Amino acid sequence: MTEDLMQKIVSLCKRRGFVYPNSEIYGGLSNAYDYGPLGAELLRNIRNLWWKTFVGTRENIYGMDGAIISNPKVWEASGHVTNFNDPLVDCKDCKERIRADHLVEDSLKISAGGKTPAELTEIIKEKNLKCPKCGSTNLTEARKFNLLFKTSLGSVENTTFDVYLRGETDQNIYVNFKNIVDSFSPKIPFGVAQIGKAFRNEITPGNFVFRTLEFEQMEIEYFIREEDWENVFEEWKGLMWEWAKELGLEEEKLRWRAHSKEELSHYSKRTEDIEYDFPFGSFQELYGLAYRTDFDLTNHAKFSGQELSYFDTKENKRFVPHVVEPTFGVTRTLLAVLLSAFTEEKDEMGEISRTLLKLPPNLAPYKVAVFPLMANRPEITAKAREVYDGLKTNFYTAWDDAGNVGKRYRRQDEIGTPWCVTIDYQTLEDDTVTVRDRDSMEQIRFSIKDLKTHFFALLN
Ligand code: ATP
Repeated sequence: MTEDLMQKIVSLCKRRGFVYPNSEIYGGLSNAYDYGPLGAELLRNIRNLWWKTFVGTRENIYGMDGAIISNPKVWEASGHVTNFNDPLVDCKDCKERIRADHLVEDSLKISAGGKTPAELTEIIKEKNLKCPKCGSTNLTEARKFNLLFKTSLGSVENTTFDVYLRGETDQNIYVNFKNIVDSFSPKIPFGVAQIGKAFRNEITPGNFVFRTLEFEQMEIEYFIREEDWENVFEEWKGLMWEWAKELGLEEEKLRWRAHSKEELSHYSKRTEDIEYDFPFGSFQELYGLAYRTDFDLTNHAKFSGQELSYFDTKENKRFVPHVVEPTFGVTRTLLAVLLSAFTEEKDEMGEISRTLLKLPPNLAPYKVAVFPLMANRPEITAKAREVYDGLKTNFYTAWDDAGNVGKRYRRQDEIGTPWCVTIDYQTLEDDTVTVRDRDSMEQIRFSIKDLKTHFFALLN
């Protein structure tokens, strides 16, 4: 049933232009996807809502947009060159490469986060775990595999040097800490936020866009006094939960999970994830919240030789701020949002009568669709074009004049368009149109001149 839901989402995404497998005409590339016209719009709406929530409407959070490729010392200082690893085993028979911790977790239903490659190897041997692809027990020992993508910089051979595609977006923020403090003199606590691509050489069982090689993150580094960290952590737990609810994710599909001591990343003293009940393997990480102490600023100060500290004018004291980091995956959000919004309504016989995406209107790719009732009546089409032109400057608006109106409603339901506006004979007489609501299917007549105010009110 739940597997079935995943297949339905993948198929809808492809058919209606949300997500396409990357470079499909060449046979594709594992764990790489492209976002079509509606997916691009949904991603943009997620990013915009996040930016408005955490940057635009907050006085003490600054936005920035850093480079994907930086001086490689950034990744040495951050610890990623040595510590950003996944434990992998190879199947000697079918050559499949497998995450050793996931193999243990999936086969034995126990947590394996934080176990060393040697510990994982021992469990895999002792329990005779099998390759999930071919069933062979002929597996290599687990060994560490660095997730950073390396590339080389320089146009002349022998003068090239290795650089990394960023494995997370936050390091841009730490290395610009001094710039932002100098430009804006922020009062602590303050945050710096960024949305952007990150790259990880991940081995995955292919759960659609849940885990991909390149993905987008929305992250905030929230700079605080050390003694405040526990309160700030709790405060962000509340804000992150509210955000997840705003996306339309059902609370019963969400939970917090604290990382065990062994599982904590090299920089973290406390981490909790918001997990979502994905249809594969039940609850999985959606977002993370980490108390990163002063690890990053201290290390960058050490590696760069620059002073990265904060002068508190109130207490007349200089110190290195500590950091609480809420981190959100954009593409993982898109998947959770689609899974939660996907709805099939059934008739009395139990047959599916309607498929719709119950997306919150501010996330829906199209806000409105405009239909001329009859496509072959020039006066109705001309009037509908006028309405369409008037709306599209303010709302992402679809035009549909193909087939009967019932079919057009179904097409818009399936992609989550909250309102459909139909122009009919009465419109020509009194300048009114029907507005049909996606969820209730109720149709109400509105004067054309009131449409914009009506939609603005519903979207805010
Ligand atoms: P996981 O345990 O799932 O590998 P992580 O703990 O390594 O995730 P973080 O480094 O905390 O992830 O990244 C922050 C967020 O970025 C995650 O909560 C998730 O939403 C998203 N994310 C991480 N890796 C990927 C990926 N490969 N593809 C898509 N989104 C990702």
